[in-house]
Amino acid sequence: MTTRLRGGAAQAGVAVINAGSSSIKFSMFTVVDDALQLQTRCLLEGLNTSPKFVAKDGAGTELARQGWGDGVVLGHAGGLQHLLGFVRQQFPHLSLLGLGHRVVHGGQQFVAPMRLDRAVVAQLKTLVPLAPLHQPHNLAPIEMALASAPDLPQVACFDTAFHRSNPEVAQMFALPYALHEAGVRRYGFHGLSYEYIASVLPTLAPRAAAGKTVVLHLGNGASACAMDGGRGVASTMGFTALDGLPMGTRCGSVDAGVLIYLMDQRGMNARAIEKMLYQESGLLGVSGVSSDMRALLASAEPRARLAVDLFVYRIQREIGSLAAALGGLDALVFTAGIGENSAEVRRRVAAGLGWLGVALDDAANQAGGPAIGSVGSRCPVYVIPTDEELMIARHTLAVLGGTPRPAA
Ligand code: ADP
Repeated sequence: MTTRLRGGAAQAGVAVINAGSSSIKFSMFTVVDDALQLQTRCLLEGLNTSPKFVAKDGAGTELARQGWGDGVVLGHAGGLQHLLGFVRQQFPHLSLLGLGHRVVHGGQQFVAPMRLDRAVVAQLKTLVPLAPLHQPHNLAPIEMALASAPDLPQVACFDTAFHRSNPEVAQMFALPYALHEAGVRRYGFHGLSYEYIASVLPTLAPRAAAGKTVVLHLGNGASACAMDGGRGVASTMGFTALDGLPMGTRCGSVDAGVLIYLMDQRGMNARAIEKMLYQESGLLGVSGVSSDMRALLASAEPRARLAVDLFVYRIQREIGSLAAALGGLDALVFTAGIGENSAEVRRRVAAGLGWLGVALDDAANQAGGPAIGSVGSRCPVYVIPTDEELMIARHTLAVLGGTPRPAA
């Protein structure tokens, strides 16, 4: 990878955009001697209702905060404009090498990060039906930047790509084969998170890097991934990001017969079912209290407890299934908001996994790791913070080869 910069005093930077339906996450990294250094992480949320902007520096200290008030519609275009304006003002000497984007779906064809142009964007648009709630929002800022700054290099990084190494059977549903050929298959998601974890394991946990490891990405979205020697072999998420573990508001695995029942007996159409499965299920649906794990752990409501019980139970069952797909288990890794921060959830998950050789050191678990397994246990356990944005920045730099350009 050539990332050394040519001449000049200007700092070279890579920007990363992770655009959702109502928010844009934005990060800026500078490139110093081939190394990426985080300068700012920004969150602009409530784009169409009550926009709020917060920017922090690499150490987490707040740099800026702004609110637009209720009823203000900034939209993705206004949001992007604000973010680029903030960066220009905050980093006046920055030379932007390129923009990296998280794109949720790469389908079957995009198995690696890709330089974007109009033709590639047109191909990515054909995948919108596979991720209608996410893909259009990922593509919106790409198209805006293509129109307003056509010379600014852009790179798409796909959440599905890491899982394309899964064996064919792991990517199949037992549906008529023509559907598999038409793309109805298990794609898997959170791939940038898993790829980041795989990239740091050789340093943090060489045995986990070389062996059979299950990584648990437990955030608002939650999934688990089986890796053998750092390559993905199975994932709990399937055709969409609904499958597998229960999540904040998403259901996780559900018997497809339930959906037929809802259509036949409750007269629900696709949109109503979609809303229920994506927004009204999971921890929120079961508890009736919150989608937020902190609130559930603090609640005395029986159904809040039940939601946490179900979350833990489903994680334990999926770990068993992934260990079977791997033919063993050499290490377990917790990551993302719940995995990184909740010693209680980690303790409860691990408590049911003695049969796999998992045993936690209570003090290490409370302290947050990275190694939290008890000395001498057969299966080491780690807590490793994920960094999808850094993974995207690394990919962007690698794809672009580090040629500097003036700030957009
Ligand atoms: P997203 O998928 O939106 O990126 P995150 O990875 O930020 O989500 O995870 C959000 C989840 O992490 C929420 O359920 C939140 O309650 C949970 N979480 C964050 N900190 C803690 C904590 N200290 N204890 C328990 N859960 C936590």
